[in-house]
Amino acid sequence: MDELLQKDVARLTELMGGAERCVVLTGVRLGAIEETEAKAAGSSWSDVVSLEVLTAEPARFWEQWLPLAIESASRAPRAEHGAIARLQTAGVIKGLITQAVDDLHRKAGSPEVVEVHANVMSGRCDRCRDVYSLSEVVALAGAADDGVPRCTRDECGYPLRPTGTVWGEPLVESAIIKAWDLAAWCDLFVVLDTQLRTDPMAMLPSVPLKHSGRVALVGSTPTQYDRYAELVIRWPSPEVITAVAHQLAPSPLAK
Ligand SMILES: [Zn+2]
Repeated sequence: MDELLQKDVARLTELMGGAERCVVLTGVRLGAIEETEAKAAGSSWSDVVSLEVLTAEPARFWEQWLPLAIESASRAPRAEHGAIARLQTAGVIKGLITQAVDDLHRKAGSPEVVEVHANVMSGRCDRCRDVYSLSEVVALAGAADDGVPRCTRDECGYPLRPTGTVWGEPLVESAIIKAWDLAAWCDLFVVLDTQLRTDPMAMLPSVPLKHSGRVALVGSTPTQYDRYAELVIRWPSPEVITAVAHQLAPSPLAK
């Protein structure tokens, strides 16, 4: 870690250690920019994994969506997820909001996570509200002639949908309300690896600023809030947040 980065990390450690109500927002994938997910799946991702295709061409939708969901579900939490979970458990982070859909914060031990996109770990029947785990969804899709998983309750048979949000539909309302409440309540808002380009999340850092909360931005790309932030660290968050956790919430295994 170079000297400048070390200085910035020390400042973030100071800010987080001194805050009474620190709230953290994480992007779709820690250590990467938010478009990565879409790019990895091909440029047509947002065209196919959308509400429109889910409704009009469910077979095409599931053919695209299932491999993505299975890949996400197979990911294991990394050191940075563990660092955030430890900071939360130690009471340094008082609220955690994420745009990720891979459930890694919870897997790493985060006690509470506000998921604005929900996650890809389950499917749901919109008719009877039954929820199916991802492995059940995979089995149902595999057993269906057209690859579309359907509800198995009594005579329902309604096509399932992902529990999480898909392209072209609003985010989870209850989670958005919670995220906005946390942002208004905090005295320090730390953003990790999100470019803040898509609404409504792009608006979220303006909430603490309006309530005289401080904002710290960590990530490799500029955001529209850079000039209002107390601290900007132009560096992928994993190295930064693990260094902060090393100081404020050391792992019991680390000496
Ligand atoms: Zn049903």
